[in-house]
Amino acid sequence: MHRQVVIATRGSKLALAQAELVARELTQANPGLLVDLKIIKTKGDKILDVPLAKVGGKGLFVKEIEEALIDGRADLAVHSMKDMPAELPQGLILGAVTERENPADVLVLARSGSLNSLPQGARVGTSSLRRAAQLLAVRPDFSIVSIRGNVQTRLKKLTELNLDAVVLASAGLRRLGLGRDMNLEELGPDELLPAVGQGALGIEIRENDELVRELVSKLNHPETAYAVQAERAFLARLEGGCQVPIAGYAQIKANQLHLKGLVASLDGTRVIIARAAGPREKAADLGEKVGLEVLDQGGAEILREVYAPSGEEMGKVYLVGAGPGDPELLTRKGARCLAEAQVVVYDFLANPELLALAPLDAEKIYVGKKGGDHTMSQENINELLVNLALKGLVVTRLKGGDPYVFGRGGEEASALYHKNVPFEVVPGITSAISAPSYAGIPVTDRRCSTEVAFVTGHEDPSKPDSTINWSALAGMGTLVFLMGVKNLPMICDRLMENGKPANTPCAIVRWGTTPKQVTLTGTLADLPEKVQKAGLRPPAVTIVGDVAGLRDELLWYEKLPLFGRRIMVTRARGQASKLTKALGKLGAEILETPTIAIKPPSDPRPLRHAVLQLHKYDWLVFTSPNGVTAFAHALAASGKDARDLAGLKLATIGPATGKALSVIGVKPDLVAKTFVAEGLLESMSEYDLQDARVLLPRALKARELLPETLRSQGAHVDVVCAYETVAPEGVREEVIQALDQGLDAVTFTASSTVSNLMKLLSDQEKERFASLTREDKLKVAAIGPITAGTAEEYGLKVHFMPQAYTIDDLVKAVKDGFSEK
Ligand code: SAH
Repeated sequence: MHRQVVIATRGSKLALAQAELVARELTQANPGLLVDLKIIKTKGDKILDVPLAKVGGKGLFVKEIEEALIDGRADLAVHSMKDMPAELPQGLILGAVTERENPADVLVLARSGSLNSLPQGARVGTSSLRRAAQLLAVRPDFSIVSIRGNVQTRLKKLTELNLDAVVLASAGLRRLGLGRDMNLEELGPDELLPAVGQGALGIEIRENDELVRELVSKLNHPETAYAVQAERAFLARLEGGCQVPIAGYAQIKANQLHLKGLVASLDGTRVIIARAAGPREKAADLGEKVGLEVLDQGGAEILREVYAPSGEEMGKVYLVGAGPGDPELLTRKGARCLAEAQVVVYDFLANPELLALAPLDAEKIYVGKKGGDHTMSQENINELLVNLALKGLVVTRLKGGDPYVFGRGGEEASALYHKNVPFEVVPGITSAISAPSYAGIPVTDRRCSTEVAFVTGHEDPSKPDSTINWSALAGMGTLVFLMGVKNLPMICDRLMENGKPANTPCAIVRWGTTPKQVTLTGTLADLPEKVQKAGLRPPAVTIVGDVAGLRDELLWYEKLPLFGRRIMVTRARGQASKLTKALGKLGAEILETPTIAIKPPSDPRPLRHAVLQLHKYDWLVFTSPNGVTAFAHALAASGKDARDLAGLKLATIGPATGKALSVIGVKPDLVAKTFVAEGLLESMSEYDLQDARVLLPRALKARELLPETLRSQGAHVDVVCAYETVAPEGVREEVIQALDQGLDAVTFTASSTVSNLMKLLSDQEKERFASLTREDKLKVAAIGPITAGTAEEYGLKVHFMPQAYTIDDLVKAVKDGFSEK
């Protein structure tokens, strides 16, 4: 019988040696058979410069070979069973498994010795996560070096990379005839559990090729085949490829098949092992069983972590400097990172206002760190960041000031590096320069200081092991101490002891760049006492040096017209806070107190109905931006859009309401001249309203004046509830606290903000509030006469009211009002 078969093989020496071995056995078992080898390059051969574990994808070495089998360019392929994917592609089967060679791994040492005698921190080369994890489990001190390439290349790396040892498969060495003149230590299955299928060769063939199947079946070694079947069933249950720390080894002992399976975490700290035995014919069940047990005992968790980092599933961490406090001192890049975040992890010193730049559904995790009260330890924070990224999330880690200036950002970045988590660092404006700047102090100035040092004041200067070079510092131009409030007396003493003049100008800035900023000035000799007297507490930076004397000229922030004023802004939550921003720009500290919350109507049907009947109306009248928003939602919800407003006359009270309309792309026909209902009526009176049909979507509770007058002019008015206002939770407590802490002004932008605020308070609290206004201790700013009237009804005295009833004018009235006295 003359027949020819072609073996597809990789071109590496080992692959060729294995193919030749099988070729010889095939011709022996099938006399007269001609066997040819066909060398095929695979992806795993081509990507040589990347550690195997990072290449990803199962079956890196077999894909192209299998393609050759499927399209008939070859008849069989010889694989190390350990490189075979758990599942074969359709149309291909395992025709035979040859008798197993020694399945052990072997340690090739640079010098004579053994695993245990290797020095502390020894460098050991391997490309296998399985080997790395198991080695680290017994020798956590090892430094694992990822090496790639064929057996010869890896052996060469031993000297090239100056490694202490490399780990290889014993069978591979032997098949290549290597190892005789080397320092070897065999690590048998008890020490280092081998890869699934290690030491056995598999012959892959086409499923429907009876002839080839017949030829190769003679090479099948049933004992090995059962063992490998069990191991591979185990691997399949774990859905593992060759690039995961999974190991499995089965053996037949006393007529029973015994399987041991293992999954380890990459760092070797967790090793999960399961064992079972059963009849050889039930090899697949045995593998399945051991697999399930390993998964159950924690293997599932480990595999999730191991798989996550490969490919696109890995998240990313942005270490972002939040700036010193003023939310506008965030970089544009920082803002982008916040906008991209799926999770924001933030500190005490990062302005919580910045969180609003993250998507609403992004998770926000507070990790604290305020003085000594650490909500979460640094280690736990590091771990949190790593774990979030391993889950594939984009994490923005927001840190006060700059992440690296006394921010421990370096430690966080290192932790990420060690877990292969990609990260970027976005510098921030550090408090070390910005708090002085907002206090009128440049940290250098060629007139008096050409150098600056940032120093931690956290280190106890009385400690003998202090690493701070006090004598050097004493000779420097400007010193900026962070975290130094508690130790200030000792800091000043040390500097004076080391020769810094006692009359050196000094300043301390608390909560710099925020409306709460407080600055105290003095000299090295007297600043500590002043700080103590004032009861000044962290966070603060201390500036020592002549630059502190420039404050008299360079101060600007604390001179803003509303600096130091605490103003309560009563608004509905969810409204863009133009008022807050404008007052803030003038230096005021704003307490945003939402006194009303907007919610959809309890009964949505009337609005929905009205929207469906739009064509029946002549006029559509809006009295607030909220009404417009609610109406726009209802319009969209019923499948309509702005075009369905064609033919309707649109009227609004006030420009803000008009502007809200522009968002849905329409312009009002008429905007009330004065911004109250009376103004609207006046403007509308130019039109003939006899029998006009008017739709008025507005709040549940509102004044009846508008619909009543319209009716008196002959119009048919449908008032529908577009939204409801409710009292928000927790606000009462905020108001009382504000009164206790001292409040300079309160703003009201609508009657409802007055009544809603008052409704939150008890009679006694109302009276306290009102009498503070009557004593001029608390100034009331009302946007217009109606609002002012409501305030007066509650016994409040109104101090500021603009001519035109807009936010801009209200802000101006407040500013002017405060600068007058
Ligand atoms: N990475 C931060 C510093 C963190 S250490 C940065 O670059 O700013 C914490 C110390 O920073 C505080 O003890 C205080 O000394 C200083 N600090 C932070 N924000 C501050 C602020 N707004 N005003 C004054 N000091 C501040």
